[in-house]
Amino acid sequence: MKEILPKQIESLINILSTIPGIGSKTAERISFYIITSKDNMVQKLIDVFSDIKENIKICSECGMISDTDPCHICLSPDRNREILCVVEKPTDVITIEKTGEYNGLYHVLWGVISPLEGVGPSDINISKLIERIKKLGIKEVFFALDPDSEGETTMAFIVSKLRDIEDLSITTIARGIPLGGNIEYSDMYTLSRAIRFRTKLNDNL
Ligand SMILES: [Zn+2]
Repeated sequence: MKEILPKQIESLINILSTIPGIGSKTAERISFYIITSKDNMVQKLIDVFSDIKENIKICSECGMISDTDPCHICLSPDRNREILCVVEKPTDVITIEKTGEYNGLYHVLWGVISPLEGVGPSDINISKLIERIKKLGIKEVFFALDPDSEGETTMAFIVSKLRDIEDLSITTIARGIPLGGNIEYSDMYTLSRAIRFRTKLNDNL
C-alpha cells in the first residue's frame, strides 16, 4: 500500500513509527486520523507544534522542560532548596511531582551511563549537577534512578564525584517488593535489593 501513498503521508507515518511504543500499523492509523479529521487537526497540530518550538526550553539550571528559564520549580520560593532529586528524564519529574511526596529541587540527567550503548559520563548532564550541588549548598542528594545496572552505574559514578563535599547526605528511592507484591514470586535481584535497603520500622512507629 505504501507505493500508492503520497510521500508526505509516508513521511508522517515514518516519523510517528519512530516513537517508542508506536508500531507502523498504529502510525498509519494515527496519520490517517489526523489527515481525514473534520476537526482541522492538521492546523491545530501546526499551531501547537510552533508554540512548542518557540516557547518550550530546557531549564539551564536543572535540565527540566519548561516555558521559562529557569523553570518554575527552580524559581519557586516554596521548594526546599537543600535537597536535590536526580532523575533520568523529564517525565520522571512529572511522575514524582504527582505523588505530592517531594518538595525539593530536581536535576534531570537526560540519560544514564550505559557503556553498552556508548553513553559515558560526559554525554549526560552530570558536570552541571556537581556544580549545582556545590553552588546551592545542597544538604541531601536523592537519587531516583531506575534500579537497573545503568542506574546503579550512574549513581556510583556521581557519588564518587561527591566524596569531597562535607555533610552531604546521599539517599536513593527505596527499592524492593511492590505493594501487594509477593516475596515468593519476586525475582532474586528485587528481593536482594529489598533486603539490602530494608527500612527501619521503629522510627515510623
Ligand atoms: Zn529548573
